[in-house]
Amino acid sequence: MARSLPNPPREPVRTCVACRQEAGKGALVRVVRGPDGTAMVDRTGAAPGRGAYVHSTSACLETARKRRALERSLKTSVGPEVWAELVKTNTQVEQ
Ligand SMILES: [Zn+2]
Repeated sequence: MARSLPNPPREPVRTCVACRQEAGKGALVRVVRGPDGTAMVDRTGAAPGRGAYVHSTSACLETARKRRALERSLKTSVGPEVWAELVKTNTQVEQ
């Protein structure tokens, strides 16, 4: 007899462009390519446009920056102001 297990609602899962690990949307920062082709940090997670997700940790931000992972994913350039914004969202305080 096959029993169907209850299906708990799950948070949408996205992949970090830096470490390629899947994580819930809440653990990742979304960067979106706006209608004018410029990348910006999407704090609401609901902005229209092509989005890429990255962990807001220094390790993943650094990897994404080095590999130009966000640029490649969004197919646009990511300006220094976007990186500054991403660093501000960094939730891991390091000494
Ligand atoms: Zn990551």
